[in-house]
Amino acid sequence: MSAVYQDLLARTRAAVREVDAARARDLLEQEGAVALDVREQDEVDQGVVPGAVHIPRGFLEMRVEDALPNRDRTVVVYCAGGTRSAFAAKALQDLGYADVVSLAGGFNGWKGAGLPWEQPRSLTPDQRRRYSRHLLIPEVGEEGQRKLLDARVLLVGAGGLGSPAALYLAAAGVGTLGVIDADAVDDSNLQRQVIHTTERVGMPKVESARLTIEALNPDVTVVGHEVRLSKENALELFAPYDIVVDGTDNFATRYLINDACVLLNKPNIHGSIFRFEGQATVFSANGGPCYRCLFPSPPPPELAPSCAEAGVLGLLPGTVGLIQATEVVKLILGIGEPLVGRLLLYDALATEFRTLRLRRDAACPICGPGAPASLDDIEYTDVACAIPALAATA
Ligand SMILES: [Zn+2]
Repeated sequence: MSAVYQDLLARTRAAVREVDAARARDLLEQEGAVALDVREQDEVDQGVVPGAVHIPRGFLEMRVEDALPNRDRTVVVYCAGGTRSAFAAKALQDLGYADVVSLAGGFNGWKGAGLPWEQPRSLTPDQRRRYSRHLLIPEVGEEGQRKLLDARVLLVGAGGLGSPAALYLAAAGVGTLGVIDADAVDDSNLQRQVIHTTERVGMPKVESARLTIEALNPDVTVVGHEVRLSKENALELFAPYDIVVDGTDNFATRYLINDACVLLNKPNIHGSIFRFEGQATVFSANGGPCYRCLFPSPPPPELAPSCAEAGVLGLLPGTVGLIQATEVVKLILGIGEPLVGRLLLYDALATEFRTLRLRRDAACPICGPGAPASLDDIEYTDVACAIPALAATA
């Protein structure tokens, strides 16, 4: 090592406070203190101080203010042996961090002292490349990507709404996608159900969706449920999932999904489409309303046209399904403001979005007091297609 470097290192060490592993452990037990790991990813993969924030030394100045916005926190910086952390600690002081120490002896010294460490569950190199645009966003990052990979999302319907939602949830790396659909691909579906293809006409939609998703992202496990959702199977089907996406087009199933989600306390990501108008909201999450808070019972059949009669612009479910998928990802990551207690209305002809406030009904028959504990005594009669009833009444 050159004399110039030795001199720089000596001056840097003199300018920062260095502590041994035992002292570092004591500091980290204080309220608000944080360990900052400035090593490279392949070193971090071998083990870390529990709870440490990781920013490689080369990105420190660029990323630390996002990761540690409070400059008054005690920061214990460590690398492998204590040299990079000394330079990093100096940089943090220069950025205005008031209480920074460098761990002398680094992670090796920490481990050697018998202090606790853990093996991080990290992404594979393939996954780091695939999700690199997520890893660059502080609100997602590696931790968020792992949450997505661990998440289990159930799509009810692999149709107009379920197709775009499934494609983008799969691309984003949501690790388990359940798909409930009892139908086969029909050529009249292909105008909007973009997960299917012409050559798969006649194939079960669940199977077609699986082929597309597996070709897109091998990280995703597709669980196909080629059944018609009923009150006999709904609770059992929903139970293994974190979030349910309602991509159905009939009232009976919509009420059934709502009631099952309320009983199981799972968020229900609602979307509906009609000609040029779409709607989306998040039901039964964060104490917000459910579908029956707005409409305690289905409309009479004569007011509900069938989907075949109603028609829909093929592009519309793309927009609405992706709003649903975005809400799913926000809930998994715990970021942003979910569409709870708000109904988003989209008018494709005017290109206008509006939001209406929705309130929970204290006397709601399913999420209010005295609500049934099972689906056994609830009647679900099929009254055909969804109409924009919410818009008319809200
Ligand atoms: Zn309710």
